[in-house]
Amino acid sequence: MMTARQTSSHFPRAITGMAAEQPPARIVIFIGAPGSGKGTQSSLLSSRYDIPCISTGMILRDEAKKNTPVGFRLRQTMASGALVDDQTVCDAVVSRIRDSYEQGKASLILDGFPRTVSQAKRLNDELKALGIPGPLVIHLDVPDHVLLQRLARRRQCATCGAVYNLASKTSKNGARCQFDGGALVERDDDSEGVVARRLTSYRRETLPVIEYFRKNDSANGIYRRIDGNLEATAIASEVCDLMRFADTAMAA
Ligand code: AMP
Repeated sequence: MMTARQTSSHFPRAITGMAAEQPPARIVIFIGAPGSGKGTQSSLLSSRYDIPCISTGMILRDEAKKNTPVGFRLRQTMASGALVDDQTVCDAVVSRIRDSYEQGKASLILDGFPRTVSQAKRLNDELKALGIPGPLVIHLDVPDHVLLQRLARRRQCATCGAVYNLASKTSKNGARCQFDGGALVERDDDSEGVVARRLTSYRRETLPVIEYFRKNDSANGIYRRIDGNLEATAIASEVCDLMRFADTAMAA
C-alpha cells in the first residue's frame, strides 16, 4: 500500500513572479499525451493558486524505486510503456484526495490522472461521495511530431524530478538542476521505443477519457481543450482565464 504524499511545485513564486491567489474549491485535471506539458502547467498553476498537485507519474516512479514486490511490478510495467493497473493507481489517488479533503483542502490539481475511463468513473464517484463539484478538465492538445521532439529533448532532475528541455538555456550540456543542483538525466521511459508504446496506450486508453469529459461538459464539470503547442506562459495564461471562468460558472 502506498503512503499518501502530495507533490509540490517546482516553480517557486519568486521564479514565476506570480502572487498566490485565493484557491477556488475544485479539482483541476490536466489531461494530454506524454510530453503535452501536463507537469509544467500543473506546477505553474500549483504555484499561482497555492493548490497541492498530485502527479501519478511521480508517485508511481517513487514507488517503483523501492525494493518491494510492488516496486518490481511497477518498474516492469512503466519500463514497457504500458499503464499501471487501475486499482493500484485509483487507490493511491483516492487516498490522497480523502486525506487532503480531511485536512480542509478540497482543491487539488491532478497531473496524469485519470488515464482510463474506469479511473474517470472512480474519480467521479469519489468526488460525488465527498460533495466536491465536478472537475475542471484541461486538455492539452499537441501534435504528435511536437510530442516526439519534446520527449527526445526532455531531461529531469535525478533528485527532485524538475523537468527541463535540452533546447532551453538552463539545461545546456553539464547544467545541473536550478533548484537543488541535481544531475539532469533522461527518463527511462522517454527512449524512442517506449515512447511509441506510451503514445499507443494514450490513444487506446486516454482518448476515450477525453471524450467522456467532453460529453459531460456542463453536466458534471467543465471540459476545455487548449492548444498545447503554444509557449508555456501563454498556456498558463489561458489556464488562469479558465480558472476565472470556472469560478463564475460555479457561482452562477
Ligand atoms: P507520466 O509521468 O505521467 O508520464 O507517467 C509515467 C508512467 O506512469 C506512465 O507511462 C504509466 O506507466 C504510469 N502512470 C502514470 N499515471 C497513470 C495512470 N493514471 N494510470 C496508469 N498508469 C499511470
